Amino acid sequence: MKKGRVFSGARPTGQQHIGNYLGAIQNYVALQDEYECVYCIVDIHALTTLDDTHLLQANIREMALDWLAAGIDPERSIMFVQSHVPEITELFTYMGMITPMGWLTRVPTFKEKVRMHPDNVNYGLLGYPVLMASDIILYKADTVPVGEDQLPHLELTREIVRRFTSIFGEVFPEPKAKLTEIPLIIGLDGANKMSKSLDNQIDIAATPEETIKRVSTAYTDPTRIRRSDPGHPDTCNVYTLHGAFTKIIAPDKYAPIEEACKKAEVGCVACKKLLGESINEYLRPFREKRAEITGRKSYLEEVLADGARRASAIAKETLHEVKEKMGLA
Ligand code: SF4
Repeated sequence: MKKGRVFSGARPTGQQHIGNYLGAIQNYVALQDEYECVYCIVDIHALTTLDDTHLLQANIREMALDWLAAGIDPERSIMFVQSHVPEITELFTYMGMITPMGWLTRVPTFKEKVRMHPDNVNYGLLGYPVLMASDIILYKADTVPVGEDQLPHLELTREIVRRFTSIFGEVFPEPKAKLTEIPLIIGLDGANKMSKSLDNQIDIAATPEETIKRVSTAYTDPTRIRRSDPGHPDTCNVYTLHGAFTKIIAPDKYAPIEEACKKAEVGCVACKKLLGESINEYLRPFREKRAEITGRKSYLEEVLADGARRASAIAKETLHEVKEKMGLA
């Protein structure tokens, strides 16, 4: 017996990096054991900023392949692309009618995006929390995995549900947060959260050679100028990453790193090479599976079409109820 229905969506950002993998994706995979999961690649959300729309299809494909190879099971979970179920835009319109403007203009991410894209402050940008709420409630999800920082967004969804219920009656469950501790993975620059836009990431689908090369560019302890200088692993992101990979894959090799660094018995070049090897070993099953499913002709298209079919069946039922309540049917 499953605990309930989870919904989570992510913008199509193409190949995923180890920050995405250790944070969201592994969590997605684990949730499948306890919940009925609906995982959506939210391509319509990607249009709010109109960045790189010519790459959208390729980005959807790469991201979906990464999700499947990482263990999202299309038999157990519904995995689909947001725009493949057009009922979402209809529900978005209806929810727009009950959402006060003031709720949207106070959203901090709206203010931030206005600052970042002053030349494209569009209606979609203002309304994106309504679209996000519609994503969740169209599939009657009762649970949404979120990090602490996303709680205000989910609260807005809950407010929209409460408002709908108070005006028209009950259709949607009020979704609750499943607080998820998402580890903060710092990128190769040693300073910022791993992110494609900062070009400080390690893609999970990179080749072993690319991975080793990429890791070799990582910033280390800045106080360690010469090989003979003692290092400070506690301030070195390479050491932190060893904790996520070498510690799991080769604990015997992980254990001596701290001391060896502090006593200058290991150089940063060798230390980073070991990290690259650990990442490669850790991701080997993922990469093998990705190569296998990439080679299966039309497999991905079939998975996404099946996901859209199953999502659409739920969406149609929900919309029917909504239209009845709102006097449209
Ligand atoms: Fe960082 Fe490793 Fe260099 Fe120490 S030896 S500073 S842990 S890269």
